[in-house]
Amino acid sequence: MGADLERVLITEEEIHAKLDELAGKIWADYEGKDLLLVGVLKGAVMVMADLMRALPGTAPMDWMAISSYGSGTKSSGVVRILKDLDADITARHVLIVEDIVDSGLTLSWIKSNLESRNAASVEICTLLRKPEAAKVEVDVKYVGFDIPNEFVVGYGLDYAEKYRNLRVVGTLAPHVYS
Ligand code: 5GP
Ligand code: MG
Ligand code: MG
Repeated sequence: MGADLERVLITEEEIHAKLDELAGKIWADYEGKDLLLVGVLKGAVMVMADLMRALPGTAPMDWMAISSYGSGTKSSGVVRILKDLDADITARHVLIVEDIVDSGLTLSWIKSNLESRNAASVEICTLLRKPEAAKVEVDVKYVGFDIPNEFVVGYGLDYAEKYRNLRVVGTLAPHVYS
């Protein structure tokens, strides 16, 4: 499986160090507040698992699954909810946990959707962000790594549902696509 990778962009150690750092900031920012971590399936599974274990205290998690209609690899921002939150988020402080922000269209839709449910606040934490994300007005409070505009896999991110279990984030070798 490792042979399918062309290049490792971020190592396991770098990911964990960054999530520890973000977890410390988040815990300080939300001190005394009713924090709910909201993951977006499936890509955010690994980020959620490691981020929440890096928190100095405990916070509950909930999950959403969405499908976004897009032409091929570009997302359109038109989103359908496949699995909604279990929790009522009225008056709660929601932190959306994501794997990657590319165009930002999906996240911007999710953020407004959650805001419309009268949450006390809705912020975003993402492990990865691509330069395109800068073009959309979505305010991402916590960012792990800014990466180049390349298709990456690993640490939750898939190519045709594969490679989510890689411990690193990397790019795929050309032979995988052919
Ligand atoms: P956005 O609406 O921000 O353009 O779309 C974000 C979604 O597209 C992510 O949640 C992810 O599922 C997918 N995506 C964007 N860039 C990549 C990438 O480099 N690799 C993988 N595996 N998925 C990506
Ligand atoms: Mg995602
Ligand atoms: Mg995917």
